[in-house]
Amino acid sequence: RIIMGIESSCDETGVGLVRLHDDGTVELLADEVASSVDQHARFGGVVPEVASRAHLEAMVPTANRAFEKADLKLSDVDAIAVTAGPGLAGALLVGVSAAKAYSAALGVPLYGVNHLAGHIAVDTLQHGPLPKPCLALLVSGGHTQLLRVDDIATSITELGSTVDDAAGEAYDKVARVLGLPYPGGPPIDKAAKEGNPEAIAFPRGMTGPRDAKFDFSFSGLKTAVARWVEGAERRGEEIPVNDVAASFQEAVADVLTAKAVRAAKESGIGTLVISGGVAANSRLSGLARERCEAAGIELRVPRPRLCTDNGAMIAALGAHVVAAGVGQSSLDISANPALPVNIVSV
Ligand code: ATP
Ligand code: MG
Ligand code: FE
Repeated sequence: RIIMGIESSCDETGVGLVRLHDDGTVELLADEVASSVDQHARFGGVVPEVASRAHLEAMVPTANRAFEKADLKLSDVDAIAVTAGPGLAGALLVGVSAAKAYSAALGVPLYGVNHLAGHIAVDTLQHGPLPKPCLALLVSGGHTQLLRVDDIATSITELGSTVDDAAGEAYDKVARVLGLPYPGGPPIDKAAKEGNPEAIAFPRGMTGPRDAKFDFSFSGLKTAVARWVEGAERRGEEIPVNDVAASFQEAVADVLTAKAVRAAKESGIGTLVISGGVAANSRLSGLARERCEAAGIELRVPRPRLCTDNGAMIAALGAHVVAAGVGQSSLDISANPALPVNIVSV
């Protein structure tokens, strides 16, 4: 069966096509993304109205490109999956409306699905079915969560999450302090490769003995970096951007991987999936690899292109939802900007 996935929760318009095989495996056929990131760069963050308008313009052309790439026709589609939340309300609405239109026009079922679960489900396109259960560390622009996944289509439980900033948000804010472009993840990743991760001892949030075991905090780290940079500026020193980037990145990777590995050990779950935009970070995946190997945990990290927002992740999750026999969504579903991660489909 062919599943079309539509993503529009933030600033990427994504359309993915996958094939659900009878054995439950899901094959990637097309993954087209149009991003409005350049239009937001000068504001240092996504401007919701600009994103919505861009989705509106990009939706149909992006879908058409996906069908061309996969060499499929609209009439080949057996089900439509769309991000129902969480995300920006106006942005989500564009995708949901498009999905309803495709569903009604083609006479195929509609599945409103969870963007965050999609970030995890995408890994099955690269590494095959997820073991049940597995752990997932979801690290993106808006979320940082440690999850227990008993079934990607029906059962996700939150073990912990950030109490303030998301990891990606911290990257974006620190990049701004360092005068690096938005979004901050890629330029910090690059600068850090030339820097010394031990140059500055930045704080590791929520790692004290009395802190909740699997929660995270990045706002203290962000502030510490800003203070450090201000101090150096006040003293008229040149900012060692590479060292600051490397030291900041080390603090983020250290906390994330330490908690994820601890969760795996304590729960006896043998597989950890790291996904979401920040999973594209080279140090995060590198340190996770080292620590998982040492602890005998299988680590799965999708390739960077699949970690950031795309339509294939929604198509993949849609395929798993279809395979699980979950009922289709009603044609009057609406977008839910605050959809919690445990609601995989609506
Ligand atoms: P959410 O999924 O929570 O709704 P989002 O969809 O905006 O948020 P993603 O597209 O998954 O988030 O991720 C975007 C984030 O990933 C940005 O904050 C960006 O800086 C970060 N990011 C991208 N590449 C890297 C990298 N190499 N290193 C660190 N962070 C990165
Ligand atoms: Mg984005
Ligand atoms: Fe995302």
